Formats: sequence, structure tokens, C-alpha cells
Amino acid sequence: MVDVAILSCTFILSFSCIVYFLSNKQLQKVQSYLFLAIMINVSVSAVADIVSNYIENSLVATGALFRWQYATQIIFFVAHTTLAPLYALYVMMVNGSGLNRKNSFFYLILSPLVISELLLITNPLTNWMFYYDKHADFVRGPYEFVLYITAGLYLFISIYFMVRYRKAVSRETNIALWYFFSFTIIGIIVQMLNSELKVELFAESVSMLGVMLTIENEDALIDSGSLVYNRSAFTNENVRLLCTGQHYAVISVNMTNLRFYTRILDYNAMRDVVRMIAAWLRGCNKNARVYRNATNNMTIILLYKNEKEVDALVSTIADRFRDTWTYGRSEIELNAEIRVAFVPEEFKDVNLLTELTESNSDIETPGVRVFRGDELDSFKRKAQVEEALKKALEEDTFQVYYQPIWNAEKNRMESAEALIRLTDEELGFISPEEFIPIAEQSGLITEIGLYVFEKVCQFITKERTKALGLKYIEVNLSIFQLLVGNTLEHFLEIMKRYGVTSDQINLEITETGSLATSNTMISAINEMQEWGFKFSLDDYGTGYSNLSYIMSMDFLNIKSDKGLLWDADTRESSSIMLTDTIKTIRRLGMNVIQEGVETKEQLDLVVGAGANLIQGYYFSKPLPEEAFYDYMVDFIKNSILNR
Ligand code: C2E
Ligand code: MG
Ligand code: MG
Repeated sequence: MVDVAILSCTFILSFSCIVYFLSNKQLQKVQSYLFLAIMINVSVSAVADIVSNYIENSLVATGALFRWQYATQIIFFVAHTTLAPLYALYVMMVNGSGLNRKNSFFYLILSPLVISELLLITNPLTNWMFYYDKHADFVRGPYEFVLYITAGLYLFISIYFMVRYRKAVSRETNIALWYFFSFTIIGIIVQMLNSELKVELFAESVSMLGVMLTIENEDALIDSGSLVYNRSAFTNENVRLLCTGQHYAVISVNMTNLRFYTRILDYNAMRDVVRMIAAWLRGCNKNARVYRNATNNMTIILLYKNEKEVDALVSTIADRFRDTWTYGRSEIELNAEIRVAFVPEEFKDVNLLTELTESNSDIETPGVRVFRGDELDSFKRKAQVEEALKKALEEDTFQVYYQPIWNAEKNRMESAEALIRLTDEELGFISPEEFIPIAEQSGLITEIGLYVFEKVCQFITKERTKALGLKYIEVNLSIFQLLVGNTLEHFLEIMKRYGVTSDQINLEITETGSLATSNTMISAINEMQEWGFKFSLDDYGTGYSNLSYIMSMDFLNIKSDKGLLWDADTRESSSIMLTDTIKTIRRLGMNVIQEGVETKEQLDLVVGAGANLIQGYYFSKPLPEEAFYDYMVDFIKNSILNR
């Protein structure tokens, strides 16, 4: 009776799992069908076993009752034999190793199962697997071992695929797979040691519950706004597909003007629109999976058999977006920037793929635009540069160069600007103009900024530097460093370590449109000023500046942008603007550092207008430390001689 009790529990548990699973889930993946099949299998095995036990326990095991017992025994064996192969297939689908395989692979894998099942079905004719003797006692047949070999084989296959592709799935998924596997094996062993204890099926149904709550629970992977998969699901899927060597396409659709409609439609309406688009994309191709990686993004992963399938999907999407979307009485016209990437042929980095889908192009171009192949090169370059930055930080291969700044009134070198340099083994020299924005986007700027700051402090405390009589060093500070709360603390800590004071450093910030409006930044600057740091405004004259803003911020130096100076060579209007600006700033009591001075004519022009500090190739390019010392010593010698 204990048998029946355990088996009933097994049935109740596995059947409840089936109901819960079906009511909560839309079956989208082969993996889910396999899981359902496993659950049904355990339930059927349990029922068959209950019936068979019941009959066995009743005294009259003859005639019709006996035939029932025979039939349930066969059903039990047939169902139970498929469990191990189902599990092996399930493992392959979960970690992706079974995706896109040829049919022959599955024929081969499933052939031992087919043989076992044939032997079972024909058992009434052969008695090879089992039979009942004249006392109606169960007797094992001569070929029953085939079932054990088959089960062993599939367990081995499962272990192989779980170990070989363990990196393709998350730690939690691996744990759940192994949990199911080990629990089942323990159940089998216990039952083998004591056949009275019918715990095998029970163990299977309990561990199935575990799998259902982990692997098959996708709540955390669904974007609640659009009801498609979210960004973490996208990352997981890429890892899984890359690890198992799949070839697939990532098609990202950025609706660049979606934000505009948030002004017209309310929250619920916007959500419905996004859901409508997501649902439409889902319906485009049955093999496509849709993700939402950013508010205005929808991304498709397509495991294609033929590249034409990708082309067709892209043109279907492009065509659809050329048309409007109707919501209630609103006609919504969405711009679409579609990026098509082939993995792993063109891209094989998960972060880069995410970046590809997330990043918005700077300009909101109306209509539909498709980018593929070479048109996506800038993304590849970005990823390469980001890698180079990480490597340089790890291996300490950045360099800091110094460019002298000349005081026109005193004819001496007043200070120098610290400028970072990077030469990568593979990419060669990379200009800070290129890598600083990439560092800002990837968040590496904080670390790079601290690196430069520390090198500068080291430089300042050297005796050779002190001998040069520089008043301070100009250090570039990205506004992103100001947004990270603890930059000031780090600066103070580094300065304390080297014995540097805040008047030995001048921080250069570049003016941007947002600078004037961000309170966080203004208060960060104010706080640093309270600690004695002085600020210079870099690249003044590039478009955003206004004088009242400059006045409110208490800058020590204003650096006049080199672009305007170079324009002044050829354009009268630029020359007038430049000289007027210099004069005004000087009258307001601030220093003007003119950067980019390359010729005597340029020098005369800006000095004539009143610029009191000059930086440029006319004096020197930015130089590595040693060369900078040499230059400065020469300069000091010559100016003494010329006095
Ligand atoms: P910036 O701060 O405006 O620096 C001045 C840039 O003009 C430097 O370019 C310098 O080499 C260049 N320059 C100076 N005089 C002349 C000249 O006479 N002719 C020409 N053709 N160029 C001249 P660089 O070193 O390539 O730096 C570019 C930008 O990268 C910098 O512009 C700055 O915004 C950024 N940067 C450089 N180092 C750092 C750093 O350590 N931190 C941060 N956040 N940004 C940095
Ligand atoms: Mg600068
Ligand atoms: Mg500048």
C-alpha cells in the first residue's frame, strides 16, 4: 500500500506541474514541449504503476484482470524508457547544443530508444523483456538488459552535453539540470537496492518541480512593457548560441522617434503600441525570437538556415515600418533604424551585440534605414578600442604627455596640459579624440581619469618638475567623472598620498550643452572649488557657451578653441569673432589660453587681441616626460640668453 501512496503523490505532483505549466506558459520553444513531454511521461508512468500495483495486490490476477496488468506493465515500460532520451534532448535544447542539428543526428541519437520500444511492443509475442509465470509472478526476460543499456546510454549522453556546453547557460540553469539528473539517479539507486521502495518516479517528479521553477520560469526574462524577452534574456541567448557554435542573425530595430509619441499618447496607450509592434514582429517568422533591449528598441534573433531568410525578414520589417501603425484614431509614423548583423561571421562579442541594438544614432533621420556589413564597421572599431582601453588599464600601458603653456606677458612657461596617449599592440596609436568618448560611454573614463590624475601627481612631486617652476598642471576632467559621486574623494586621497595641494592642479572641463543645465555638475564643481581646485573651460567657442554662464561658474582660465583660430587664417569673420571674444574675456578678468597656435601669424593675432596664455605646436607638441624636461630646460636656457 505504501507503493500506491508514493505513486499517488508522484502523480498528484507531476499532474499539478503540468496544469501549472500549461496555465502559465505559452509554448514557444521546443525545450518547453520536451519538458511537457517529460512531465506527462512521469504522470503516465505513475498511473500505469499504480494500476499495475493495484492488480498485483489483489488476489485474483487472472483472466481479464491479468490482461490489464500486462497492458499497464507494457505502458509503464514504454513510457519510462522514453524518459532518459527525453531528458537528454531537453538538456541539448536548454543549452543550445541540439539547435540546428541535422535530422540524421537525431535519428542516430534516438535509434537505441526505437529498438527498446520495438522490443517492448512485441513482448507479448516474444516474452523477451518480461513475462508472467504460471503463478502469475513477474519474471525478467532474457533481453531486459537492453532497457538498462539504453537508459545508461542516454544518461551518458546527457552528462556529456551538460559538461561539454556548461558555459552556454547560467550557473542557475546548470544547477537545475544537475539537480534533476542527480535526484533521479539517487531515486533509481535507492529503488534498485530496495525494490519495495518505489521512490524513483517520486524523485523524478520532485526534481521536475525544481526545473519548472528555475529553467522553465521565464518571468525574470520578460519585459513587462512589451511582453517580449528583455535585455538579460538577449545576453543569455547570445552566450548560449555563441557557445554552441550557432550561426544566426541579429536584426535590431530602433524606433528613433518613439519618444516623440510619449508626448501625444498616455502611458497605457504607449504600452499598447509597443506591444502591438512586438506582437507583429513575433509573427513575422516562426523561428525568430523578439527582445526589447532599450525603450525604443526591438531586436530579433533569427537562427537561419539560409541567408535569404534574413533578407526576406529584413525587407518585411522595413516595408512594414514604411507604413503607419494605427492605434485607436492615432496614426503613428515610426522611423526605423535597422541594423543587421551576422553572428559569428561579423560579430562575436555579446557586449558589442548589445551595444549594436542599444545605441542610438546621433541624428533622428525620418523613414527607414537599413545598415549592414561594412556600414556597421564603426561598432566593431568601438569594441576593439574598448578592449584596448581595458587592456591598457590592466597592463598599465597608457602614457601621459605634457604640452607647455606659455605666458605671453612674462615670456615663461607657466604651466602644461597633461594629455593621455595610447598605443595598442594591434591597433597602433589611438587618438584620445577617439577613445575618450568611448571611455565615457563604457564607464571606463572614471578609472582612466584617476590614472591620469595619479600620474600627474607623481609628476608634480618629482624634483625635476619642481625645478621647472610651473605654477600648475592642467588636467582634463570629463564631465562623466563629475557625475560619479566619489571623484573628489579619490582625488583628495591621491593628492594626500603624493603630498600635492589643490592649487598645483587646474581642472579642464569641456563645455557641452548639458553642462550649463545640470545641477549635479554645477554643485560638483562648486564642491571641488571649495576644496581649492581651480577650473578652466576647454574648447570655448565651439557653440554652446554663453558669457553669463561663464561668469556664474568662476573659471580661472578660458581656453579658446583651436578651430576658431584656424578658421581665422582664412576667414575675416572668424578673425573678428576670435579677437572680440578674447578681448571680452580678458576684460571680464579671466585668463585666455589660446590653444592650437602653430604659426607666428596666429601667435601675433591672439597675443595682439590680449590672449595671455598660449598653447600650441608653435612652441611644442605634447611630449613624453623625458622630452618635456629636455624641452623645458632648453627653453629656460634660451630665454635667459635672450634676455
Ligand atoms: P583638449 O583638452 O582640447 O586638448 C588639446 C588638444 O589639442 C590636444 O589633442 C593637443 O595635442 C592638441 N593641440 C594643442 N596644440 C595644437 C596645435 O598647435 N596643433 C594641433 N594640430 N593640435 C594641437 P589630443 O592630445 O589629441 O587630445 C584631444 C582631446 O582628448 C583633448 O582635447 C581632450 O578633450 C581629450 N583628452 C586628452 N587627454 C585627456 C585626459 O587625460 N582626460 C580626458 N578626460 N580627456 C582627455
Ligand atoms: Mg584640455
Ligand atoms: Mg581644447
